[in-house]
Amino acid sequence: GLPPYDPQNIFARILRGELPCKRVHEDEFALAFHDIAPQAPLHVLVIPKGAYVSAADFHATAPEAEIAGFWRAVAKVAKDLKLEEPGYRLLANVGHDAGQEVPHFHVHLFAGKPLGRMLG
Ligand code: 5GP
Repeated sequence: GLPPYDPQNIFARILRGELPCKRVHEDEFALAFHDIAPQAPLHVLVIPKGAYVSAADFHATAPEAEIAGFWRAVAKVAKDLKLEEPGYRLLANVGHDAGQEVPHFHVHLFAGKPLGRMLG
């Protein structure tokens, strides 16, 4: 499984304002910002403010209000970016085989072109 939460991970540093990001949304529960290496015309990351290493950790251990607030933030980002009609893809890598690089739970939001059936 994944190691314990590392408060020096890059997204923790972004949350603390120690590193910059191109912010698209922030509220009590979540921060959304553009991925530094976009894999689609629009590639945004949405992260919870709390310290969770992965989607598995988040959904198993976060208070219900944080889980609800996080997913409402994801939906708000998509709505504010006017993606509901063209559509978009959400993806979360969990652990080694999925290629998770940053050990702070994040949801990728891909959009801006037809994305095809496979994830690459
Ligand atoms: P993972 O592979 O963990 O699911 O995705 C990590 C994502 O974070 C990658 O798409 C990568 O491009 C992005 N990323 C890594 N470091 C930074 C950073 O410092 N700033 C931003 N905005 N994105 C980053």
